Amino acid sequence: MAILIDGKKISTDIKDELKVEVAKYKEQGIKITMAVVKVGEDPASAVYVRNKQKACEYIGIDSVAYELPEETSEEELLELIDKLNKDDVINGILVQLPLPKHMNEDIILDAIDSKKDVDGFHPNNVGKMMVGKETFLPCTPAGIVELLKRTNIELEGKECVVIGRSNIVGKPMSMLMLKENCTVTICHSRTKDLKEVARRADILIVAIGKPKFVTADFVKDGATVIDVGIHRMENGKLCGDVDFEQVEPKAYAITPVPGGVGPMTVTMLMANCLRSVELQNR
Ligand code: NAD
Repeated sequence: MAILIDGKKISTDIKDELKVEVAKYKEQGIKITMAVVKVGEDPASAVYVRNKQKACEYIGIDSVAYELPEETSEEELLELIDKLNKDDVINGILVQLPLPKHMNEDIILDAIDSKKDVDGFHPNNVGKMMVGKETFLPCTPAGIVELLKRTNIELEGKECVVIGRSNIVGKPMSMLMLKENCTVTICHSRTKDLKEVARRADILIVAIGKPKFVTADFVKDGATVIDVGIHRMENGKLCGDVDFEQVEPKAYAITPVPGGVGPMTVTMLMANCLRSVELQNR
């Protein structure tokens, strides 16, 4: 049986560590405040925003919610971001994606002060991550590195295959695994012989957004498999991009869905909120 990488427990451990750090800041008179901006009525976004606010509450960070109507113009949202950028009380700004179709997400994300960019999506921060400078790291990939390290999975010198090259998961994930001294291969929808490439992996990270796409024949015996995907099936249950039932018996370690990567994303956002205080005081 594979080791089940317990994202729920690891994320609770990290949140408890962060709670202690927040309390230390409070003793020094430093309060941490995050602005959470949501535009429109997307039900999934409402759940994500609520989870982020709950996590803030748990570790002792103040959160201020801005819930704007669907018809908000891009200019109005940019005005709010400008106000939050200039507000000394606000340490981190999070704009929940996706935004309504009439808005250009790149313009909005670029407008956030890079020192308050707790999602780590601003091009300045992406660039800093690329060259290994200290900055906000994108939450899902950073959470995966924590999962691997805290499960004592050896990374140095290992073959890591990342399937997916999105700006939010696949690309930054590959950079962070490179930083951990893995030999990294990035696969995507045009990759030839995907199964063969995937079977090279000691560590296989899957972020493609296709339910149960990765079956046993993608996986080398004894590989560690990280499943980023999350999908609701017709029976109401959640599943990932990996066919867990097929792959688990072959794996050395594997993340379940739910309870694997998912809980880490919000937790790493909290870690970035704390980092914002350090980065802003430089
Ligand atoms: P995306 O749609 O932006 O990117 C998908 C990537 O997969 C693309 O780069 C594409 O080239 C690649 N791809 C698609 N089909 C492929 C195929 N047949 N073969 C090889 N590569 C293929 O998705 P994303 O934002 O990176 O998210 C991926 C999944 O992870 C989604 O299910 C999403 O819901 C989930 N996700 C979960 C979390 C979390 O916190 N657990 C966070 C972000 C994303």
